[in-house]
Amino acid sequence: MRIQILYLFVLLVSFAISADNISVKSPDKKVVLNIKVDNGKAYYSIKYDNCDILLPSRLGIKTNVGDWIDNLSLTNSKVTKESRKYDMSHTKASHVEYEATKLVFKLANCDNKEVTITFMVFNNDVAFRYTIQSSKIMVYGEISSFRFPDSTKAFLSHKQKTNPSYERIYQADKSMTDKSGEGVGYVFPALFHLENDRWALVTETGVTSKYVGSHLSDFSNDNGYTIAYPDKEESSGKGDTYPTMEGSENTPWRTITFGNDLRPIIETTVTFDLVEPLYEPSIDYKPGRYTWSWLIWQLDSINYDDQVKYIDLNAKMGFEYVLIDAEWDNRIGRDKMAQLSKYAQSKGVQLMLWYNSNGNLNNVYQSPRDLMHEKNARDKEMKWMQSIGIAGIKVDFFAGDKQNSMQLYEDILYDANRYGLLVIFHGCTLPRGWEILYPNFVSSEAVVASEMVYFVENDANREPYDLTLHPFCRNAVASMDWGGVIMNRKLSKDNKSRHSRKTTDTFELASGIVTQTFVQCIEMQPNNLDDLPQIEIDFLKNLPTTWDETKFIDGYPGKFVILARRHKQTWYIAGLNAENDTKNLEIKLSMVKGDSKVDYYTDNNDGYSYLDSVKVDINSKIKISMKHNGGFIIIAKNE
Ligand code: CA
Repeated sequence: MRIQILYLFVLLVSFAISADNISVKSPDKKVVLNIKVDNGKAYYSIKYDNCDILLPSRLGIKTNVGDWIDNLSLTNSKVTKESRKYDMSHTKASHVEYEATKLVFKLANCDNKEVTITFMVFNNDVAFRYTIQSSKIMVYGEISSFRFPDSTKAFLSHKQKTNPSYERIYQADKSMTDKSGEGVGYVFPALFHLENDRWALVTETGVTSKYVGSHLSDFSNDNGYTIAYPDKEESSGKGDTYPTMEGSENTPWRTITFGNDLRPIIETTVTFDLVEPLYEPSIDYKPGRYTWSWLIWQLDSINYDDQVKYIDLNAKMGFEYVLIDAEWDNRIGRDKMAQLSKYAQSKGVQLMLWYNSNGNLNNVYQSPRDLMHEKNARDKEMKWMQSIGIAGIKVDFFAGDKQNSMQLYEDILYDANRYGLLVIFHGCTLPRGWEILYPNFVSSEAVVASEMVYFVENDANREPYDLTLHPFCRNAVASMDWGGVIMNRKLSKDNKSRHSRKTTDTFELASGIVTQTFVQCIEMQPNNLDDLPQIEIDFLKNLPTTWDETKFIDGYPGKFVILARRHKQTWYIAGLNAENDTKNLEIKLSMVKGDSKVDYYTDNNDGYSYLDSVKVDINSKIKISMKHNGGFIIIAKNE
């Protein structure tokens, strides 16, 4: 009885409708979503704590079976309270419980045809999608828009016109009216800084083979940013730019996460909350750490003897996986690979192998080629991998965000699961809910990653900026294969030549906590066993890669970040500083019990880590200090 009363109360308080206007509130009442139809056009707007997050922004979709852009009227709406509890193992949290207000309404066009729009209003997120009842729907475009208040600053990565691999630098604090680098808008996620330190993060989730990967258009004064589809030149010009759905299907969810500070951005699980697994895992996929010779020893290291050195390094460190990069088929060969895999397994290590995604969608020459693009070849290859005990694959060089690429990602994932293989993607799109949709998916690059730290000194200079920005943006919505907690001081095999790494050792160690992926690259070289302090080696040996909870503590995208992640009963609090001056802060750690001692890693004067034991007082406040391009780690075992 009490539940029914509560339910009615929610309905009455959070739902108001007139002929052309609907208003609903989040469970905590702080979010107000307003839907209106004005002059035949549909709009949604969002207020949080009585302040504008989104000004009236367009809703509408254009298809072969109907056009819902203009001449619309609002019909048939329903509000319900939703709640859900679920577990996951590959992301920033292991258990989620949420409540949300669900609004479903229909828009009728001048032919009296209807499209259904569903909104989920959470306490710090809003998500929406379209549903069209018909067979074979071709979606020619959407006018779904995001119009922020004028003073808003944008943190955006521009989209590459052809072969987008989400490898363009995020520009911070830019005017929304700036033009994008290649004139085709911006990739997801897109971060916005609103007045009075409010923040918003826009992305999409639930994108499978049934849709294209969307992005945001350039800014327009009328609509702000509008959902845009792939360019015709993607996928070497092959395939449609728009999605085709067989039967009544939903579009992906477009999501916006917001709040009065950056906490909801770091902590959101909205990209996982709205999707369900597409298949069961065929085996119990193991989290872990991998080493990767290619980053610093480069192509020369793709040979049997060097890979033995990395397997031996892994065995000493207790790391689970060794990734062998491109050209292994020519430089090691299949027979020797079977032998190498056997050797690795004898040391408690498993191999992961690199593949070109190609087929006819890309013309990248690196080998092995033509083994991942169609089913027969894939089956044969994966069966062979399974027979020699390979743990996973890294598939590289995808051709864009058209539906043909989304189909290829899904086919690779689906088949890899049949053979018990983990999958990492590089040169690829942003994963959109894939950690849940595809249980053997690990993470994607989709970022200007460690390879650029190796190749270009200026990118090494920018590493602290990148790694303090992504927790609030790219890595807030999906796992990220940055490609390594880098331990060499110089980006070279001899650790003496070429340019130096610009970060301290503690920065790198802390990045292994800040950067989230289920299988983390630890970019250690065999020489690091001799040249690193024992406390750093011990830290890496024990670094977890799965997290039960993630909490925001402090930070500003591109300047510094402090966050806490819990692994079982232990909290790992990590900070990275990209600013020029040493940062001295007193932080309150509500998750750490007072009157106990915690391990505190900081930087000493020569850039190595220094480990101390620090007493936490009754209010659990800790003074921390982060040098320029340095960091800190606190490990609190709450036993
Ligand atoms: Ca890349």
